[in-house]
Amino acid sequence: MSDHARSRELYRRACEVMPAGVNSPVRAFRSVGGDPIFYERGSGCHVVDADGNRFVDYVCSWGPLILGHAHPEVVEAVRTTAADGLSFGAPCRQEVELAELVTSAVPHLEMIRCVSSGTEAVMSAIRLARGATGRDVVLKFDGCYHGHADHLLVSAGSGLATFGTPSSAGVPESFAGHTAVLPLDDDDAFRELMTARGHEIAAVIIEGVPANAGLLVQRPEFMRTIRDQCTRHGALLILDEVITGFRLGTNGAAGFYDVTPDLATYGKVIGGGMPVGAYGGSREVMEQLAPLGPVYQAGTLSGNPVAMAAGTAALRALFADGGAAYTELERLGARLETGLSGVMRRAGVPWSVVRVGSILWLVLQDGEPPRRFDKIQPQTADIYARLHGALLDRGISLAPSAYEVVFVSLAHDDAVIDETVAAFEDVVREIA
Ligand code: PMP
Repeated sequence: MSDHARSRELYRRACEVMPAGVNSPVRAFRSVGGDPIFYERGSGCHVVDADGNRFVDYVCSWGPLILGHAHPEVVEAVRTTAADGLSFGAPCRQEVELAELVTSAVPHLEMIRCVSSGTEAVMSAIRLARGATGRDVVLKFDGCYHGHADHLLVSAGSGLATFGTPSSAGVPESFAGHTAVLPLDDDDAFRELMTARGHEIAAVIIEGVPANAGLLVQRPEFMRTIRDQCTRHGALLILDEVITGFRLGTNGAAGFYDVTPDLATYGKVIGGGMPVGAYGGSREVMEQLAPLGPVYQAGTLSGNPVAMAAGTAALRALFADGGAAYTELERLGARLETGLSGVMRRAGVPWSVVRVGSILWLVLQDGEPPRRFDKIQPQTADIYARLHGALLDRGISLAPSAYEVVFVSLAHDDAVIDETVAAFEDVVREIA
């Protein structure tokens, strides 16, 4: 058992001055128990906490660190750019370079606009879709997370095809009334709602591969139904690629499903670990933005040179050698999946692993892996909490919530993955 005295002391101080001691709720370890760990530094696939304990990190800052911690090329880009000034609030070369790189890699992006988080990217894309269509309603899917903008903190009401109810205090009912919520994986419900109300819908938004409530991999036919119905009813399809963008390949989930969205949103990987989000689409739609068009959106730190340089360095490393990085991520992800599945089989537990590329999810229930949120059994959270704590004691850090996924980076080599599988074997034998 590691010593966590310094983390505990930092947490005590943090709780005095920050709600639950954190700047983002899931970090507080509420759903797995115990106190959060405070990190000092990271290198490759490892992080070291305030007490000097070292962990293999499968959180990777919730996805951005696809190259691992403190990747030398990203750090160098940050260092040299920062030395020439942290922010101008005026156009700079670095934002043109990132935009050129992104638009040349993703076929459906003619133009992008950069912001500072995934939430901001989605919130702005929704406003743009509303402005471009002259419609108010947004359709989202139960179990998809798109950041904390008011109109998207909405849960499914009772029954199918209902308008949503706020899922957070502080979100007016009247805002939630502009958001329709449907279950994933239900083509009929989707067609029915579009037939009835498609003419009111500005945008349908879906996560590239829903990865915020487990990993709910959708059937390609469902994605095609969404695309076809959006086109038929004049609604814009927004693919939220904040997690999947530049992680599943240069064309993210759009490439994975072979679906072309009207707008796509980015965060995480596109910033190489710095606060960057972006949204983009066709020239025609993007030119609706101010100052060319009537849709207003702005940002003091948008296109910040240091953040742009970090993102550009990360994407260049990923795109080098014809995208060899993605072949390697696939191989590493498969190795971890095979290892963890083998442990489950040998232990005789009725669990499974779902994976797309370098994103994995432990399905701690029996039967087919779920494709929609209401098929996740809530009691799996208890098993996950025990796994999480026991793995942490063995130096393996998973996200502190059963609904979160495992992120593999290019810095996770075979030895580290095998070490993880061995630790998992011990832990499963102990708790199963
Ligand atoms: N969309 C998706 C799919 C996300 O996973 C997230 C964050 N996990 C967001 C949007 C919001 O991004 P941010 O936390 O950077 O605001």
